[in-house]
Amino acid sequence: ITLRHQVVKFIRDFLDDRGFLEIETPILIKSTPEGARDYLVPSRLYPGQFYALPQSPQQLKQLLMVAGFEKYFQIARCFRDEDSRADRQPEHTQLDLEMSFVEEKDVLALIEELYTDLVRTTTPGKRVPTPFPRLTYAESMERFGTDKPDLRFGLEMSDLSEMASATEFRVFRSAVEGGGIVKAFSAPGCASYSRRQVDELIDFAKSRGAMGLVTVALTGEPGPVEDLTLDQVRSAAARFLTLEQIKDAALRTGARVGDMVLIIAGPPQSTNVALSALRNEMGGRLGLADPDELAFAFVVDFPLFVYNDDEERWDAMHHAFTSPKEGYEQYIESDPGRVIAYCYDLVANGVELGSGSIRIHNRQLQERVLAVLGYTAEETKQRFGQLLTALEYGAPPHGGMAPGIDRLMMVLT
Ligand code: ASP
Repeated sequence: ITLRHQVVKFIRDFLDDRGFLEIETPILIKSTPEGARDYLVPSRLYPGQFYALPQSPQQLKQLLMVAGFEKYFQIARCFRDEDSRADRQPEHTQLDLEMSFVEEKDVLALIEELYTDLVRTTTPGKRVPTPFPRLTYAESMERFGTDKPDLRFGLEMSDLSEMASATEFRVFRSAVEGGGIVKAFSAPGCASYSRRQVDELIDFAKSRGAMGLVTVALTGEPGPVEDLTLDQVRSAAARFLTLEQIKDAALRTGARVGDMVLIIAGPPQSTNVALSALRNEMGGRLGLADPDELAFAFVVDFPLFVYNDDEERWDAMHHAFTSPKEGYEQYIESDPGRVIAYCYDLVANGVELGSGSIRIHNRQLQERVLAVLGYTAEETKQRFGQLLTALEYGAPPHGGMAPGIDRLMMVLT
């Protein structure tokens, strides 16, 4: 609680020094969606009607930009009615900020300076490597299987799908034939893991949604894999793989003799989820995740839309007000899944601290995006009329971000 006070005070002073105004926005409002359900408050004066508590001040801060406040922030309480998790609760506090006449790089530069100075001042025992690495969403998924990678350690993943589909191993082949992937990383020095330790890892992977885990231990004196022989290989899958295939998998994951290659096969999403959980688990077990380091990073270039299989419709990956990147507008209706957005996350040590984006500041473009999200013209007018009207006044280009304070405190402490 004491540190939180210092952190919030630091944020206020830092932004005040840079010309930001702290502005409170209303709590009893019309819904502004961030992908959760609204908490509703019945109206006494309009029986049968309800206010929504803000999921965020998103539309309100955009109205402030239209009104001519070029630099806004607020330590904002937000309310989202969704299932609780260890890092998600019904109400949370975020540093909500917005700026006019900026591009993505300007927002990221401000946030990087703020978080670097903040940590160095309030928790000087922590190390903050700078500059913060910037990974695209696609790159982050490929290398770490997640959009919130813990960059305190390597253990990078490799896609083995192509080589795996050429093996005799049915688990690998059927995964790839069914549209899935085979992905792996190498755990240094783990070739000596006991049967029990390996079983623990298999159970761990299964508990995170994998159908199984294939381990390939390369036993022997530490060294390059070129001279590896079959009798050095310990793996339940060994009899389905040739020595060349094992060496190939080892080389692709950067494994050496003495290491263990951990492989998961299955549908892309569940494979990435389970393998990235396993990566974090191994980072912890091997003591690679330094508790005194805060490895911040920006993940950029998120897709604008994500397909919701259950509801059979497109959802916004971030929120409905996010701008497509230049060159992608043309695909909004014809190929929504292809549209990349000016959308970014701040992550640290495997935790997503917050998201932001450059916003749509043109009414027609905003209407096109809302239409893909399934809002009828009537719903669009009723739910977003206030913003659409405001955009017509000549809205400045604007963008911002809202990193959470609760999660920041969690990683700081
Ligand atoms: N409104 C967003 C959120 O609450 C953050 C932002 O885009 O600034 O996640």
